[in-house]
Parts: sequence; C-alpha cells; structure tokens
Amino acid sequence: MKFNLQDTFSTDLPADPNKNNTRRQVFHSCYSYAIPRVPSAPVVLHVSDFAQTLGITEQETQSDSFKEIFSGAKLIVGSTPYAMCYAGHQFGHWAGQLGDGRAINLGEVVYNNKRWALQLKGAGETPYSRTADGLAVLRSSIREHLCSEAMYHLGVPTTRSLSLCLTGDEVLRDMMYDGNAAYEKGAVVCRVAESFIRFGNFQIFASRGDKKTLQLLADYTIRQFYPEIDLGSESKYAALFAAVADRTLNMIVGWQRVGFVHGVMNTDNLSILGQTIDYGPYGWLEGYDRGWTPNTTDRQHKRYRYGNQPAIALWNLHQLGNALYSIEQVAEPFEKTLRGYQQKYVEAYFDMMRQKLGLNTEEKTDISLIEALELNLELTETDMTIFFRQLAQLTLSDTPASALDTVDFAFYKPAELVGEIKATWEVWMKQYLARLVQENRPVEEKTAAMNAVNPKYVLRNYMAQLAIDAADSGDYSLIDELYQLLKEPYAEQAENEKWFAKRPEWARHKVGCSMLSCSS
Ligand code: AMP
Ligand code: MG
Repeated sequence: MKFNLQDTFSTDLPADPNKNNTRRQVFHSCYSYAIPRVPSAPVVLHVSDFAQTLGITEQETQSDSFKEIFSGAKLIVGSTPYAMCYAGHQFGHWAGQLGDGRAINLGEVVYNNKRWALQLKGAGETPYSRTADGLAVLRSSIREHLCSEAMYHLGVPTTRSLSLCLTGDEVLRDMMYDGNAAYEKGAVVCRVAESFIRFGNFQIFASRGDKKTLQLLADYTIRQFYPEIDLGSESKYAALFAAVADRTLNMIVGWQRVGFVHGVMNTDNLSILGQTIDYGPYGWLEGYDRGWTPNTTDRQHKRYRYGNQPAIALWNLHQLGNALYSIEQVAEPFEKTLRGYQQKYVEAYFDMMRQKLGLNTEEKTDISLIEALELNLELTETDMTIFFRQLAQLTLSDTPASALDTVDFAFYKPAELVGEIKATWEVWMKQYLARLVQENRPVEEKTAAMNAVNPKYVLRNYMAQLAIDAADSGDYSLIDELYQLLKEPYAEQAENEKWFAKRPEWARHKVGCSMLSCSS
C-alpha cells in the first residue's frame, strides 16, 4: 500500500517548536507533532467504500499494513503526524484552548488529483489532551463510523470514515457521569476530509491577539479550499466568512431535512468547510419534536435541540465572524453576512420543506401549510422519517381520511388520533391535497421526487445501539449490515423493510438510544 503524502497544513503553517508530547498551552502555532499510540492487539472491524476513493484495493484493506497504519501501530512512510491547535465556545461559554486531544492527523494524501486529510480518532495523547486519555471507546467509534458514511449517502455534507479498528486496549469511562466507571473496548476510527479545520482554529489566534498566525491560517484556508476568493482582495476575509456562512447554512438545512441532531454544536465542532464533523452524542428525530436533544449533558437548557440548530449555527458564525473581523477591522461586510443568514435560512428551509412535500412551485400559502405541519407533527408522537415516506404515497384522488390512513403507520399511538387532533390533521390533509391538485404534477413524478429527499432508512438511535450491544459481545456483523443498508437510504430495499419501523418501546428511555452523554 503506497500513499502519495503531500501535507499542506503542516508545511504551510507554523509548527509548535516543542516536540514533546506534554500537555500545555501552545502559542503562535497551528499544530503540534504527536505520534499515535501503538495499540496492543489491533483488529480491523470495518472498512468503508471510501477506501476506493483513496486508491486502496480490497486486497490491501485486508493486509497487515492497512491494519497497522489505520490502528496507529505504524506510520505511513514520510508521515509526520500532528494534532491541531484550536479553541472554542462550549455550550455558549468560552473554553480557551482545546485542540485535537485525541485526534492525530497522519497527513494529506493525493489520489486522482484530490487531496484528503487522514486523521486517527482515539489514537492517544497529544499536547491538547488536557485531563483526558486521548482514547475512544468502541461504542462511540461505531457511531461515528456508521453515521459519517450514512450522512454522506443521505447527501448531507460530512467528514467521511475510512475504517474502524479495535485497539485491543481497554478504556475506562464513566458513561453517564454518575460515578459508575467501567472498562470498555478501545477503538480507533480513521476519518477523512479535505480538511479538519474548525471555527475554533481561527478563534484561538484572535482571542490571543495573534493576528499574524490568524492571517496565515485564513490565507491558507482561502488558498486551499476557497480558491474562488481573490487572495489579493482587501475584503478577502469577509468573503471567506460569507462563503463559510453559506456552506454552514446548507449543512444545517440538510440536518433539518433528515432529522439529524448534532448534539454538541460547540464552535470547535463546526467545520470551516460546512461539513458535519465530530459525531458524539448525536441522534435522529424519531418522534418529530423541535425541543429534542439526545445529549443528556445538555438536558437542562437544551441549547442544541433540533429546532435550535439553525440559530446556533448563526451564533457560532458570529464567533467566527468576530475572529476574522479582527484582521480586516471593517465590520459592514461581516454584519451583512450575519443579517443575510436569517433571510437566506428561512428561504432555504421553506424550499427544502416544499421539496419534502413534493411541491414544485412556490405559493404564498406554502409557509402556513408548512408551519401548520410542524405543529401537527407534535400533536401526538409522530415518526418523522416514516411520516414523510408515507406521505409520498398519496394520490390526487385521496380524501383527507384516506390520506390519514396512509400515514397512520407513523403515529406511535394511533389511538390518540381522535377528536381535536384528528380534526386538525384532517384540515391539514385537505389543504395539502388541494395543493397537490393545484400543482397537478404526474403522481409518479411527485412520489419519486419526494422519495429522493425523504429517506426511508436513517441510523435510528436504537439501530446504532443494537450494533454496539452485539459488538460488545463480540458479534460485529450488524455493523456491516447497517452500513450496507445506509448506503442507499432513499431506495425501497424490500429485504430491509424491518428497519423501516418506529423506535421499539424498549429503546424509549434506554441509555444510548435516547440518552447519550459526551463521554466517548
Ligand atoms: P468534543 O466535545 O468531543 O468535541 O471534545 C472537546 C474537546 O475535548 C476536544 O479538544 C477534544 O479533543 C477533547 N477530548 C474529548 N475526548 C477526549 C479524550 N478522551 N482525550 C483527550 N481529549 C479529549
Ligand atoms: Mg470536538
């Protein structure tokens, strides 16, 4: 296995001159060198199709060399691994220096004229590990590996995952932060992206008044990832900010469309490329509920609840804007971008919802139709994924009553669909059916269009947990089964119908299914 390693991040940007792997504050540097920890008994559990994008053959994925490199046992020839330096706001509070505490970058490899940064998550201590161990457990690694790939296939911008390895080492974790620490299997995921730069990478230099390094990083980002921006322009950082805002907005619309709740939208967990990054205590809406977050660490304020994600992205953009503004000191274009976000988001959201409803054209009344739907979906617990998928089956000859029958499968307690609730739904169905008649789109075309944006299969919280429970007892087969399923989330997949089901009752309050902490 040979890689064409050509790292730009470490060659173009200043390194921490201290090469010791000791925990410390790091200044005027974008990264520190750190070597992955050698695992005691590595095993490759799963490799994704992303291997092909990197030019790794099927046979190579089964080689010792693959296992050694992607578990951290051996380095790619010529690699000088490093951990990035960044800061961030956590749950709305400035946290100062954070950095890659358990992610080690192996470097960027070029294949087919594309450059990919490879990063091992859970590969041991770095200067940014603070009080933690630099490791990751199997459960969170399965979740990251499966969900990154699932998001990609859903068409939502995301970092990718190449591989999932067991390290053979045990890792101590207090999963629910309740004093019940236990040993769990350690694991390493190899993540891949064009870059892992986050909002926090800019914030750290701005917070320290280190304009020089901030500017180097911002210029690097433009040069590598936003080549459409003129590096000679006086307002290039404002242009960068505007471009990042657009990409972030697009990502959030994608999350809202598929019912994904990130769970920890701290500024260190927002990619400068507008890609979903850092899969921790994320979750999928089962019952549609704008107030829902899977993250028990956020139970009190629910800052990162589903319905708040667009507003939090804007809050985070404010922080990034402050950092980039500190170089050019011309506020107006930054303010314009922030003001524009609100308007653009609303437009993009309603466009997306129109697509979910199979509406091709724009009518003024669509907004109230969509807003009413949001309320209706919360009247009685309604499975978001199943609802939209069933809704696609309506025809122009449906009545409100027959339409309700078609979506009935989405209701957790169909018996609650009586009286006021039923009447409210019938009113909505009547309006929706009238709107479909008005559009008069060929019904197959409408259904196909809806099925192309409303997934049939998502990584429901309990599904990931089933794979985790099986893996804990040594059966890793469900990881690949789910991986294969989620490669075609919009296809019917008759043989996989069992996964097109509401969350089973046992999973309602189970740890890992509806309750997740940041412990990983
Ligand atoms: P997260 O909330 O997972 O994005 O992590 C926030 C910060 O804590 C980042 O700087 C991580 O690198 C760091 N971190 C999380 N878990 C660990 C760990 N087990 N060891 C070292 N650092 C960690
Ligand atoms: Mg993070």
